[in-house]
Amino acid sequence: MIANKNLLLMPGDGIGPEVMAQARRVLNWLQESGRASFTIDEELVGGAAIDVHGVPLTDAALAKAKSADALLFGSVGGPKWDKVPFEIRPEAGLLKLRAELQVFANLRPAKVFHALADASSLKPELVSGLDLMIVRECIGGIYFGQPRGIETLPNGEQRGINTEVYTTHEIQRVGRVAFELARKRQGRVCSVEKANVMEAGLLWRQVMTKLHAEEFPDVALSHMYADNCAMQLAKNPKQFDVIVTSNLFGDILSDLAAMLTGSLGLLPSATLGAKDENGRVPSLYEPIHGSAPDIAGTGKANPLAQVLSLAMMLRYSFDMSEEANAIEAAVERVLAKAGRTPDIAVPGRAVISTAEMGDALLAELPR
Ligand code: NAD
Repeated sequence: MIANKNLLLMPGDGIGPEVMAQARRVLNWLQESGRASFTIDEELVGGAAIDVHGVPLTDAALAKAKSADALLFGSVGGPKWDKVPFEIRPEAGLLKLRAELQVFANLRPAKVFHALADASSLKPELVSGLDLMIVRECIGGIYFGQPRGIETLPNGEQRGINTEVYTTHEIQRVGRVAFELARKRQGRVCSVEKANVMEAGLLWRQVMTKLHAEEFPDVALSHMYADNCAMQLAKNPKQFDVIVTSNLFGDILSDLAAMLTGSLGLLPSATLGAKDENGRVPSLYEPIHGSAPDIAGTGKANPLAQVLSLAMMLRYSFDMSEEANAIEAAVERVLAKAGRTPDIAVPGRAVISTAEMGDALLAELPR
Protein backbone atom coordinates (compact mmCIF):
# COMPACT_ATOMS: atom_id res chain seq x y z
CA MET A 1 0.00 0.00 0.00
CA ILE A 2 1.28 3.51 -0.82
CA ALA A 3 2.08 5.96 2.00
CA ASN A 4 -0.78 8.23 3.03
CA LYS A 5 -1.56 10.88 0.40
CA ASN A 6 -3.43 14.17 0.64
CA LEU A 7 -6.25 14.54 -1.84
CA LEU A 8 -8.27 17.64 -2.49
CA LEU A 9 -11.71 17.20 -4.04
CA MET A 10 -13.36 20.17 -5.75
CA PRO A 11 -16.81 19.04 -6.94
CA GLY A 12 -17.87 22.47 -8.29
CA ASP A 13 -21.28 23.12 -9.85
CA GLY A 14 -24.17 21.43 -11.64
CA ILE A 15 -23.57 17.70 -12.01
CA GLY A 16 -20.06 18.12 -10.50
CA PRO A 17 -21.11 17.21 -6.93
CA GLU A 18 -23.37 14.38 -8.21
CA VAL A 19 -20.61 12.62 -10.14
CA MET A 20 -18.00 13.38 -7.47
CA ALA A 21 -20.19 11.58 -4.91
CA GLN A 22 -19.75 8.39 -6.95
CA ALA A 23 -15.98 8.91 -7.24
CA ARG A 24 -15.91 9.26 -3.45
CA ARG A 25 -17.51 5.83 -3.14
CA VAL A 26 -14.62 4.42 -5.19
CA LEU A 27 -12.17 6.24 -2.90
CA ASN A 28 -13.92 4.63 0.08
CA TRP A 29 -13.52 1.23 -1.60
CA LEU A 30 -9.78 1.87 -2.00
CA GLN A 31 -9.46 2.79 1.68
CA GLU A 32 -11.76 0.11 3.14
CA SER A 33 -10.14 -2.67 1.12
CA GLY A 34 -6.72 -1.56 2.41
CA ARG A 35 -5.43 -0.63 -1.05
CA ALA A 36 -4.68 2.99 -0.23
CA SER A 37 -4.79 5.53 2.54
CA PHE A 38 -5.89 9.04 1.73
CA THR A 39 -6.50 12.16 3.77
CA ILE A 40 -9.36 13.73 1.86
CA ASP A 41 -10.28 17.39 1.99
CA GLU A 42 -12.95 19.18 -0.02
CA GLU A 43 -13.24 22.79 -1.22
CA LEU A 44 -15.80 24.89 -3.06
CA VAL A 45 -14.91 26.14 -6.52
CA GLY A 46 -16.70 27.97 -9.34
CA GLY A 47 -20.26 29.17 -8.84
CA ALA A 48 -20.54 27.32 -5.52
CA ALA A 49 -17.59 29.37 -4.19
CA ILE A 50 -19.02 32.60 -5.62
CA ASP A 51 -22.28 31.99 -3.73
CA VAL A 52 -20.46 31.61 -0.39
CA HIS A 53 -17.26 33.69 -0.75
CA GLY A 54 -17.93 36.05 -3.66
CA VAL A 55 -15.00 34.63 -5.68
CA PRO A 56 -14.68 31.39 -7.71
CA LEU A 57 -11.47 30.33 -5.92
CA THR A 58 -10.46 31.54 -2.47
CA ASP A 59 -6.80 31.95 -1.45
CA ALA A 60 -7.33 29.24 1.17
CA ALA A 61 -8.65 26.78 -1.44
CA LEU A 62 -5.74 27.61 -3.75
CA ALA A 63 -3.24 27.02 -0.93
CA LYS A 64 -4.81 23.61 -0.26
CA ALA A 65 -4.68 22.76 -3.97
CA LYS A 66 -0.98 23.66 -4.06
CA SER A 67 -0.10 21.50 -1.08
CA ALA A 68 -2.25 18.47 -2.02
CA ASP A 69 -0.61 15.43 -3.63
CA ALA A 70 -3.35 15.47 -6.28
CA LEU A 71 -6.51 17.38 -7.08
CA LEU A 72 -9.72 15.77 -8.30
CA PHE A 73 -11.93 18.38 -9.93
CA GLY A 74 -15.60 18.13 -10.99
CA SER A 75 -16.88 20.89 -13.25
CA VAL A 76 -17.85 24.54 -12.94
CA GLY A 77 -20.29 27.00 -14.43
CA GLY A 78 -23.96 27.38 -15.19
CA PRO A 79 -26.62 29.95 -16.13
CA LYS A 80 -27.05 31.02 -12.50
CA TRP A 81 -23.72 32.88 -12.73
CA ASP A 82 -24.12 34.27 -16.26
CA LYS A 83 -24.33 37.84 -14.94
CA VAL A 84 -21.34 37.88 -12.55
CA PRO A 85 -18.42 40.09 -13.69
CA PHE A 86 -16.18 38.37 -16.28
CA GLU A 87 -13.10 38.30 -13.97
CA ILE A 88 -14.91 36.32 -11.29
CA ARG A 89 -17.03 34.02 -13.46
CA PRO A 90 -16.97 30.35 -12.33
CA GLU A 91 -14.58 29.26 -15.12
CA ALA A 92 -12.03 31.84 -13.90
CA GLY A 93 -11.56 29.65 -10.83
CA LEU A 94 -10.41 26.72 -12.97
CA LEU A 95 -8.17 28.89 -15.16
CA LYS A 96 -6.53 30.37 -12.05
CA LEU A 97 -5.96 26.90 -10.61
CA ARG A 98 -4.27 25.72 -13.80
CA ALA A 99 -2.09 28.83 -14.00
CA GLU A 100 -1.10 28.78 -10.31
CA LEU A 101 -0.31 25.06 -10.31
CA GLN A 102 1.74 25.60 -13.51
CA VAL A 103 0.24 22.52 -15.11
CA PHE A 104 1.31 22.57 -18.76
CA ALA A 105 0.61 19.07 -20.11
CA ASN A 106 -2.99 18.15 -20.73
CA LEU A 107 -3.49 14.40 -21.12
CA ARG A 108 -6.63 13.31 -22.91
CA PRO A 109 -7.00 9.58 -23.41
CA ALA A 110 -9.38 8.37 -26.10
CA LYS A 111 -10.24 4.85 -25.11
CA VAL A 112 -13.11 2.91 -26.60
CA PHE A 113 -14.76 0.38 -24.35
CA HIS A 114 -15.81 -2.70 -26.33
CA ALA A 115 -19.43 -2.37 -25.28
CA LEU A 116 -19.57 1.17 -26.67
CA ALA A 117 -17.80 0.65 -30.00
CA ASP A 118 -21.12 1.06 -31.80
CA ALA A 119 -21.63 4.52 -30.23
CA SER A 120 -18.70 5.95 -32.23
CA SER A 121 -19.25 7.91 -35.41
CA LEU A 122 -16.71 5.56 -37.06
CA LYS A 123 -17.25 1.91 -37.98
CA PRO A 124 -16.93 -0.33 -34.87
CA GLU A 125 -13.98 -2.28 -36.34
CA LEU A 126 -11.99 0.95 -36.73
CA VAL A 127 -12.42 1.97 -33.08
CA SER A 128 -13.00 -1.22 -31.09
CA GLY A 129 -10.15 -1.51 -28.59
CA LEU A 130 -8.85 1.99 -29.42
CA ASP A 131 -6.58 3.35 -26.67
CA LEU A 132 -4.64 6.47 -27.56
CA MET A 133 -3.40 9.40 -25.52
CA ILE A 134 -3.15 12.99 -26.68
CA VAL A 135 -0.69 15.17 -24.78
CA ARG A 136 -1.49 18.80 -25.45
CA GLU A 137 0.76 21.66 -24.36
CA CYS A 138 -1.76 23.89 -22.61
CA ILE A 139 -0.22 27.08 -21.23
CA GLY A 140 1.80 28.30 -24.24
CA GLY A 141 1.56 28.68 -28.00
CA ILE A 142 -0.82 30.84 -29.97
CA TYR A 143 -3.44 31.20 -27.20
CA PHE A 144 -0.93 33.12 -25.08
CA GLY A 145 1.75 34.40 -27.51
CA GLN A 146 2.55 38.12 -27.93
CA PRO A 147 1.90 40.26 -29.88
CA ARG A 148 -1.83 39.72 -29.95
CA GLY A 149 -4.87 41.93 -30.41
CA ILE A 150 -6.94 43.75 -32.99
CA GLU A 151 -5.44 46.94 -34.41
CA THR A 152 -6.62 49.57 -36.84
CA LEU A 153 -4.39 50.23 -39.83
CA PRO A 154 -3.77 53.69 -41.34
CA ASN A 155 -6.22 52.92 -44.14
CA GLY A 156 -8.97 52.21 -41.60
CA GLU A 157 -8.91 48.47 -42.10
CA GLN A 158 -8.56 46.27 -39.00
CA ARG A 159 -6.02 43.52 -38.40
CA GLY A 160 -6.30 40.63 -35.91
CA ILE A 161 -3.03 39.20 -34.60
CA ASN A 162 -2.10 36.08 -32.67
CA THR A 163 1.39 34.68 -32.38
CA GLU A 164 2.44 31.05 -32.27
CA VAL A 165 5.51 30.99 -30.04
CA TYR A 166 7.37 28.13 -28.34
CA THR A 167 10.74 28.07 -26.59
CA THR A 168 13.07 25.07 -26.38
CA HIS A 169 12.23 24.64 -22.71
CA GLU A 170 8.46 24.62 -23.29
CA ILE A 171 8.78 21.95 -25.98
CA GLN A 172 11.18 19.82 -23.95
CA ARG A 173 9.03 19.71 -20.81
CA VAL A 174 5.87 18.59 -22.62
CA GLY A 175 7.95 16.22 -24.76
CA ARG A 176 9.32 14.55 -21.62
CA VAL A 177 5.79 13.98 -20.32
CA ALA A 178 4.85 12.29 -23.62
CA PHE A 179 7.96 10.07 -23.75
CA GLU A 180 7.58 9.04 -20.12
CA LEU A 181 3.92 8.17 -20.72
CA ALA A 182 4.83 6.11 -23.79
CA ARG A 183 7.23 4.08 -21.64
CA LYS A 184 4.26 3.03 -19.51
CA ARG A 185 2.15 2.27 -22.63
CA GLN A 186 3.13 0.86 -26.05
CA GLY A 187 6.38 2.83 -26.31
CA ARG A 188 5.45 5.03 -29.30
CA VAL A 189 5.24 8.82 -29.58
CA CYS A 190 3.96 10.72 -32.61
CA SER A 191 4.97 14.39 -32.50
CA VAL A 192 2.58 16.62 -34.43
CA GLU A 193 3.23 20.11 -35.88
CA LYS A 194 3.33 21.99 -39.18
CA ALA A 195 7.11 22.11 -39.66
CA ASN A 196 6.51 22.49 -43.40
CA VAL A 197 4.97 25.97 -43.05
CA MET A 198 5.66 27.27 -39.51
CA GLU A 199 9.02 28.10 -37.91
CA ALA A 200 7.60 27.32 -34.45
CA GLY A 201 6.71 23.90 -35.86
CA LEU A 202 10.20 23.44 -37.28
CA LEU A 203 11.73 24.20 -33.88
CA TRP A 204 9.22 21.81 -32.28
CA ARG A 205 10.39 19.00 -34.58
CA GLN A 206 14.10 19.75 -33.99
CA VAL A 207 13.72 19.86 -30.20
CA MET A 208 11.67 16.65 -30.09
CA THR A 209 14.21 14.85 -32.29
CA LYS A 210 17.12 15.91 -30.05
CA LEU A 211 15.25 15.12 -26.82
CA HIS A 212 14.42 11.67 -28.17
CA ALA A 213 18.03 10.91 -29.14
CA GLU A 214 19.48 12.17 -25.85
CA GLU A 215 16.97 10.94 -23.26
CA PHE A 216 14.46 8.50 -24.73
CA PRO A 217 16.13 6.33 -27.43
CA ASP A 218 14.11 3.33 -26.16
CA VAL A 219 10.83 4.98 -27.28
CA ALA A 220 9.83 5.01 -30.98
CA LEU A 221 9.39 8.57 -32.26
CA SER A 222 7.59 9.58 -35.45
CA HIS A 223 6.59 13.01 -36.77
CA MET A 224 3.38 13.99 -38.53
CA TYR A 225 1.92 17.22 -39.91
CA ALA A 226 -1.22 18.28 -38.04
CA ASP A 227 -3.49 18.17 -41.09
CA ASN A 228 -2.40 14.62 -41.90
CA CYS A 229 -2.86 13.68 -38.23
CA ALA A 230 -6.51 14.82 -38.37
CA MET A 231 -6.98 12.65 -41.46
CA GLN A 232 -5.21 9.65 -39.91
CA LEU A 233 -7.29 9.95 -36.71
CA ALA A 234 -10.45 9.64 -38.77
CA LYS A 235 -9.01 6.93 -41.06
CA ASN A 236 -7.06 4.62 -38.77
CA PRO A 237 -6.95 5.88 -35.16
CA LYS A 238 -5.53 2.63 -33.79
CA GLN A 239 -2.14 3.39 -35.41
CA PHE A 240 -1.40 5.87 -32.56
CA ASP A 241 -0.16 5.33 -29.01
CA VAL A 242 0.84 8.79 -27.66
CA ILE A 243 0.39 11.98 -29.71
CA VAL A 244 2.19 15.09 -28.44
CA THR A 245 1.38 18.49 -29.86
CA SER A 246 0.95 22.23 -29.33
CA ASN A 247 -1.92 24.01 -27.63
CA LEU A 248 -3.82 24.88 -30.82
CA PHE A 249 -3.42 21.57 -32.65
CA GLY A 250 -4.04 19.65 -29.41
CA ASP A 251 -7.27 21.53 -28.81
CA ILE A 252 -8.63 20.46 -32.19
CA LEU A 253 -7.19 16.95 -32.41
CA SER A 254 -8.26 15.98 -28.88
CA ASP A 255 -11.88 16.93 -29.63
CA LEU A 256 -11.74 14.85 -32.79
CA ALA A 257 -10.29 11.90 -30.84
CA ALA A 258 -12.94 12.36 -28.13
CA MET A 259 -15.72 11.94 -30.66
CA LEU A 260 -14.26 8.60 -31.75
CA THR A 261 -15.23 7.24 -28.35
CA GLY A 262 -18.86 8.27 -28.68
CA SER A 263 -19.62 9.63 -25.21
CA LEU A 264 -18.79 12.78 -23.31
CA GLY A 265 -19.76 11.13 -20.03
CA LEU A 266 -16.87 8.66 -20.29
CA LEU A 267 -13.90 10.91 -20.96
CA PRO A 268 -11.42 11.75 -18.21
CA SER A 269 -8.39 14.04 -18.39
CA ALA A 270 -5.29 14.94 -16.43
CA THR A 271 -3.20 18.09 -16.44
CA LEU A 272 0.33 17.76 -15.12
CA GLY A 273 3.18 20.13 -14.27
CA ALA A 274 6.91 19.65 -13.78
CA LYS A 275 8.38 17.53 -11.00
CA ASP A 276 9.54 19.67 -8.05
CA GLU A 277 12.65 19.07 -5.92
CA ASN A 278 10.69 16.61 -3.72
CA GLY A 279 9.63 14.57 -6.77
CA ARG A 280 6.05 15.88 -6.53
CA VAL A 281 4.21 16.58 -9.81
CA PRO A 282 1.40 19.18 -9.59
CA SER A 283 -1.65 17.52 -11.06
CA LEU A 284 -5.31 18.17 -11.70
CA TYR A 285 -7.71 15.43 -12.80
CA GLU A 286 -11.14 16.18 -14.24
CA PRO A 287 -13.75 14.86 -16.63
CA ILE A 288 -13.76 16.72 -19.95
CA HIS A 289 -17.48 17.43 -19.71
CA GLY A 290 -18.89 20.57 -18.11
CA SER A 291 -21.47 21.07 -15.37
CA ALA A 292 -24.37 19.99 -17.63
CA PRO A 293 -26.94 22.41 -16.14
CA ASP A 294 -29.63 20.88 -18.38
CA ILE A 295 -29.58 17.63 -16.37
CA ALA A 296 -28.19 18.80 -12.99
CA GLY A 297 -30.27 17.57 -10.06
CA THR A 298 -32.16 14.97 -12.11
CA GLY A 299 -29.93 11.94 -11.39
CA LYS A 300 -29.24 11.51 -15.10
CA ALA A 301 -25.50 12.33 -15.10
CA ASN A 302 -23.06 9.61 -16.08
CA PRO A 303 -20.46 9.43 -13.28
CA LEU A 304 -17.96 7.28 -15.20
CA ALA A 305 -15.80 10.14 -16.59
CA GLN A 306 -15.28 11.36 -13.02
CA VAL A 307 -14.46 7.85 -11.81
CA LEU A 308 -12.07 7.33 -14.74
CA SER A 309 -10.39 10.65 -13.84
CA LEU A 310 -9.80 9.15 -10.41
CA ALA A 311 -8.27 6.06 -12.09
CA MET A 312 -5.92 8.36 -14.03
CA MET A 313 -4.93 10.00 -10.76
CA LEU A 314 -4.04 6.62 -9.25
CA ARG A 315 -1.96 5.70 -12.31
CA TYR A 316 -0.12 8.96 -12.95
CA SER A 317 0.19 10.58 -9.52
CA PHE A 318 0.55 7.50 -7.33
CA ASP A 319 1.88 4.74 -9.61
CA MET A 320 -1.11 2.59 -8.62
CA SER A 321 -1.60 0.95 -12.02
CA GLU A 322 -3.09 -2.22 -10.56
CA GLU A 323 -5.91 -0.30 -8.87
CA ALA A 324 -6.41 1.96 -11.93
CA ASN A 325 -6.68 -1.15 -14.12
CA ALA A 326 -9.17 -2.70 -11.69
CA ILE A 327 -11.41 0.38 -11.88
CA GLU A 328 -11.21 0.54 -15.68
CA ALA A 329 -11.97 -3.17 -15.97
CA ALA A 330 -14.98 -2.69 -13.66
CA VAL A 331 -16.21 0.13 -15.94
CA GLU A 332 -15.82 -2.20 -18.94
CA ARG A 333 -17.92 -4.89 -17.22
CA VAL A 334 -20.60 -2.41 -16.12
CA LEU A 335 -20.94 -1.16 -19.68
CA ALA A 336 -21.20 -4.71 -20.97
CA LYS A 337 -23.94 -5.89 -18.66
CA ALA A 338 -25.53 -3.32 -16.33
CA GLY A 339 -28.15 -0.72 -17.12
CA ARG A 340 -26.94 2.59 -18.51
CA THR A 341 -27.40 6.28 -17.81
CA PRO A 342 -29.53 8.06 -20.46
CA ASP A 343 -26.52 9.49 -22.37
CA ILE A 344 -25.39 6.00 -23.42
CA ALA A 345 -28.72 4.17 -23.20
CA VAL A 346 -29.54 1.51 -25.80
CA PRO A 347 -32.83 -0.28 -26.49
CA GLY A 348 -33.27 -3.40 -24.38
CA ARG A 349 -31.10 -2.20 -21.49
CA ALA A 350 -32.49 -0.56 -18.34
CA VAL A 351 -31.98 3.19 -17.97
CA ILE A 352 -30.41 3.83 -14.56
CA SER A 353 -29.54 6.85 -12.42
CA THR A 354 -26.17 8.32 -11.44
CA ALA A 355 -26.28 6.56 -8.06
CA GLU A 356 -27.41 3.26 -9.60
CA MET A 357 -24.45 3.45 -11.99
CA GLY A 358 -22.30 3.92 -8.88
CA ASP A 359 -23.94 0.82 -7.29
CA ALA A 360 -23.25 -1.25 -10.42
CA LEU A 361 -19.63 -0.12 -10.49
CA LEU A 362 -19.04 -0.85 -6.81
CA ALA A 363 -20.48 -4.33 -7.30
CA GLU A 364 -17.85 -5.00 -10.00
CA LEU A 365 -14.83 -3.83 -7.98
CA PRO A 366 -12.73 -6.62 -6.47
CA ARG A 367 -13.18 -7.10 -2.74
P1 NAD B 1 -21.45 20.22 -20.89
O1 NAD B 1 -20.29 19.30 -21.08
O2 NAD B 1 -21.76 20.63 -19.51
O3 NAD B 1 -22.75 19.58 -21.54
C1 NAD B 1 -22.89 19.26 -22.93
C2 NAD B 1 -24.00 18.19 -23.10
O4 NAD B 1 -23.52 16.93 -22.64
C3 NAD B 1 -25.24 18.50 -22.26
O5 NAD B 1 -26.38 18.08 -22.98
C4 NAD B 1 -25.08 17.64 -21.03
O6 NAD B 1 -26.31 17.24 -20.43
C5 NAD B 1 -24.31 16.44 -21.57
N1 NAD B 1 -23.42 15.89 -20.56
C6 NAD B 1 -22.25 16.44 -20.12
N2 NAD B 1 -21.71 15.65 -19.18
C7 NAD B 1 -22.53 14.61 -19.02
C8 NAD B 1 -22.52 13.44 -18.17
N3 NAD B 1 -21.52 13.22 -17.29
N4 NAD B 1 -23.54 12.57 -18.26
C9 NAD B 1 -24.54 12.76 -19.14
N5 NAD B 1 -24.60 13.83 -19.97
C10 NAD B 1 -23.62 14.73 -19.91
O7 NAD B 1 -21.13 21.51 -21.80
P2 NAD B 1 -21.95 22.88 -21.95
O8 NAD B 1 -23.42 22.61 -21.90
O9 NAD B 1 -21.36 23.52 -23.14
O10 NAD B 1 -21.54 23.74 -20.69
C11 NAD B 1 -22.29 23.82 -19.47
C12 NAD B 1 -21.49 24.62 -18.45
O11 NAD B 1 -20.30 23.89 -18.13
C13 NAD B 1 -21.05 25.99 -18.94
O12 NAD B 1 -21.16 26.90 -17.88
C14 NAD B 1 -19.59 25.78 -19.32
O13 NAD B 1 -18.82 26.94 -19.21
C15 NAD B 1 -19.18 24.77 -18.28
N6 NAD B 1 -18.02 23.93 -18.66
C16 NAD B 1 -17.13 23.66 -17.67
C17 NAD B 1 -16.07 22.85 -17.92
C18 NAD B 1 -15.14 22.54 -16.79
O14 NAD B 1 -15.47 22.78 -15.64
N7 NAD B 1 -13.95 22.01 -17.06
C19 NAD B 1 -15.90 22.27 -19.18
C20 NAD B 1 -16.84 22.54 -20.17
C21 NAD B 1 -17.92 23.38 -19.89
